Amino acid sequence: MYQQNARAIRAAAQANISKEAQPTGWRGKLANIDWTPDLGQNIGSGDWFRGLATMVSLAAVSLFFWPGFEPIRAEPATRMSAAQLDEFRALAIAPLAYGGDTGRKMRATDAVIALKESPERPSIDLAATFGRGDSFARVLQRAGVGGDEASNIENMLAGVMSLSDLKPGTQLDITLGRRTSRDEPRPVENIAFRAKFDLNVEIARQGEGLALKQKPIIVDETPLRIRGKVGSSLYRSARAAGAPAKAIQAYLRALGTKMSVSRDVRSTDEFDIVLGYKRAETGEIEVGDLMYAGLDRGGKSKAQLLRWKSGGKTQWFEASGVGESRGELARPVRGRVSSRYGMRRHPILKYRRMHSGLDFKARHGEPIYAATDGVVQYAGRKGGFGKYVKIRHGGGLASGYAHMSRIAVSSGRRVRRGQIIGYVGSTGLSTGPHLHYELYRGGRTINPQSVRFTTRAQLSGSDLRNFKAKLARLKRVEPGAALRSITKAEEVKEPVREIERIEASSS
Ligand SMILES: [Zn+2]
Repeated sequence: MYQQNARAIRAAAQANISKEAQPTGWRGKLANIDWTPDLGQNIGSGDWFRGLATMVSLAAVSLFFWPGFEPIRAEPATRMSAAQLDEFRALAIAPLAYGGDTGRKMRATDAVIALKESPERPSIDLAATFGRGDSFARVLQRAGVGGDEASNIENMLAGVMSLSDLKPGTQLDITLGRRTSRDEPRPVENIAFRAKFDLNVEIARQGEGLALKQKPIIVDETPLRIRGKVGSSLYRSARAAGAPAKAIQAYLRALGTKMSVSRDVRSTDEFDIVLGYKRAETGEIEVGDLMYAGLDRGGKSKAQLLRWKSGGKTQWFEASGVGESRGELARPVRGRVSSRYGMRRHPILKYRRMHSGLDFKARHGEPIYAATDGVVQYAGRKGGFGKYVKIRHGGGLASGYAHMSRIAVSSGRRVRRGQIIGYVGSTGLSTGPHLHYELYRGGRTINPQSVRFTTRAQLSGSDLRNFKAKLARLKRVEPGAALRSITKAEEVKEPVREIERIEASSS
């Protein structure tokens, strides 16, 4: 239906064309030919074949313009002659960097006269390093000093300082002088190095021999004291105040011998750290070990710990001269054991019965310490025990302290090892001031001596006096005093130029 309509319209259009403009001759014929008939109709007819030919030729034309895929050439490659290439290589830098042999070289002409021998420098400046396990003479010999002279210098030095004190890595500035013949080593003109933190040494030629000169360096040994508020983190606050990380770790360890750092330190507390500190006038700094660890709360000292060597052992001592306690149980009182655990004849009851604890002979009023951390289970009078304290520790262990003159804790309170819980007395069934000390495991008494006591070092006599003097000295150090500039002795400068020398003498 639709196709029929289309044909009718086309026929009408052709009829119109033929009516209005009728081209004449071959042009008229050409114009009337339908070059693009519908290839779906009249298949095999002349019109159809003509349409096919039109389509094939159009396709052939478009295929003819199909582009190729060869690479696009932008610029022709440079071609160089052999001579140009040589010139190019001579000016290249990259091959030189790789150790190439490119570059222009002048050929010696007849005007060049070869030297018989090259001239020698009058002196050579060298830097040598003293290694680990090195010997001074070996360092010098490595630098080119003759064997005799090297051992000579080593002997000279040994008279002034201990050569084993020389630190590995020490730099030696060596100047070697002119020699008379090429066959022999150069003589030493000058050697300068830092022998110690506070000493420079210079060995210089004077006439025939060498002279050794010692130049002391001013060293300030004011300890470095750092104080500050604990804040949210003791470590971070101390770091911010300028304490080295290693010193803070040592501080925390020291404080840990006295209290629990995580539980007992408050953010409002003030830490007080004193470090060994040495400063040379030349600017070098040596930070030493932690000397003092303190913690203040509200202007009062909570902990004062000083490193002190006593009896060949270095440990932390409290301001009172009491050392660290080690091990499980501390000794409850200072005094000797006067009666052991076991069967014995009771001094008052006058018959044999079990002595269920240890008796310590001690003076009236001597402090009694908790054997280890725990909670006070009982504090008060208890029959023949008189004034008595029982402390419950972990692990089914408990300890009891009897015959006290005064009790210093109340029931339910937490106590720490070494804390004073009362004082020696003679209350209850007792013949004289002593401490009756019991240890319980699972509610039954056990021999306290089967459990090892710890001993706490206690300084006394001149040791204690020296200790207290040092503590006072350290506590007098002003925070930051070690950072002030070193007061240098006035130096008289030697005039360098002749004109200055004249001016100085005339004025
Ligand atoms: Zn007893």
